[in-house]
Amino acid sequence: MQSKLFLYSFIGIFFFASLMETVFNKWRLTIMDQGDPRHIQHSIVRDFGIHRVGKLANPEQTNQKSKLPVQNPPLKSRFKEMFAKTTSGQQKASNTHPNTSSLITMFMCGDVMLGRGIDQVLPHPSDPILYEQYMRNAKGYVSIAERMNGPIPSPVSYSYIWGDALEELERISPDLRIINLETSITKSNDYWKNKGINYRMNPENIACLTTAKIDYVSLANNHVLDWGYSGLMETLETLNKVNVKSAGAGSTLQEAEIPAVMEIQGKGRVLVFSYGVTTSGIPFSWAASDKRPGVNLLKDFSDKTVNSIKEKVEEIEQQKDIIVISIHWGGNWGYEIAPTQVKFAHKLIDEVGVDAIHGHSSHHVKGIEVYKDKLIIYGSGDFLNDYEGIGGYESFRDDLALMYFASMELSSGKLLRLQMTPTQIKHFKVNRASKADAMWLRDILNKEGKKFGTRVKLNKDDTLTLQWN
Ligand SMILES: [Zn+2]
Repeated sequence: MQSKLFLYSFIGIFFFASLMETVFNKWRLTIMDQGDPRHIQHSIVRDFGIHRVGKLANPEQTNQKSKLPVQNPPLKSRFKEMFAKTTSGQQKASNTHPNTSSLITMFMCGDVMLGRGIDQVLPHPSDPILYEQYMRNAKGYVSIAERMNGPIPSPVSYSYIWGDALEELERISPDLRIINLETSITKSNDYWKNKGINYRMNPENIACLTTAKIDYVSLANNHVLDWGYSGLMETLETLNKVNVKSAGAGSTLQEAEIPAVMEIQGKGRVLVFSYGVTTSGIPFSWAASDKRPGVNLLKDFSDKTVNSIKEKVEEIEQQKDIIVISIHWGGNWGYEIAPTQVKFAHKLIDEVGVDAIHGHSSHHVKGIEVYKDKLIIYGSGDFLNDYEGIGGYESFRDDLALMYFASMELSSGKLLRLQMTPTQIKHFKVNRASKADAMWLRDILNKEGKKFGTRVKLNKDDTLTLQWN
């Protein structure tokens, strides 16, 4: 009798221990990837959107036309062909996590403006000439920032501009690093006439992107053509040379539509499609066509547009691919989100099967939505620019931004966690925001997230975590 009792107790303890081990392993797998002024007239320097762009040069009437590479009208099947070309040999060896992981973590941020004043402090500054109404020399922006916050060393190192962001990227070690590149990278002097603001970074400064191990840049925005078609071409060539993927602009519409494909070793593929909308200040004439270089511009948010995006996605999507839409849309200022944007974002998720929407254009962060377990960032805010010391919109705190770290389930694209690190642009670099500023960001995200049912929690280390129903 006693020996039977002993045997039953032993079996019981054995099963209980096995059960506990299974539960612990499940918990461990779930958390293992989740790392915790002198007011110069501000209108001269801000990236104001379409109402500030003024009458734009018609590319058909400028000398830029002669530079266009004319190609035969491409067939639909060319999309696949070109796609195959751009994705060969793209297997990514770095930034990988163990194969056992069922999560993918993507770093995303908003506008990274590396031109003008920022370019002037980098090791290889461009010709500082500007064609702005009130500012003729890019060094003027460095002086404005220095008057506000003290001297900025010059030249700075390539890593300088990323400041505290580099350490945070190393700490969280995301699988992918995705940004919106709000400048052209070129030595072109062919500035886009009558635009008012023209950003360029010298291609010799390209190491500032590779230093931060940026994997992908969105190009469908209102600055990629600031220095003409030759400027766009040089931007694409320069990115290509250093193997930084891009999407959203090209020598034809077909090229501009091609998504960037990133293969995360042992995990799967992430496809990023980049689109721009005129509300962000992209001139309509910048739309790429069969024969004209330009950006991948969305004409509207109609069902027809949704269907055409769906077609593009279906042409290349493989099972289990994570689909990201990176979109430059809406004005620079204001928290409102047009109902048409919300509806469009939902349709992309419902009808196209998009897993995450990376929205940008606003100079400050906007409300975040999680719709059917999929992340929608409507406005990521400016991550880096040369606006320091320029007044006019202080109440929006556009010096503050967020590093978004989205952890998604690989098999479903479902958002499991959104961790955000508050940052501040100061001395032309990214700094960790103070506790008070992190609290300010928390409060604004809570206020603006209310309509979407999202809330934000401030963690002990001053990072933020999104909560949703
Ligand atoms: Zn923009």
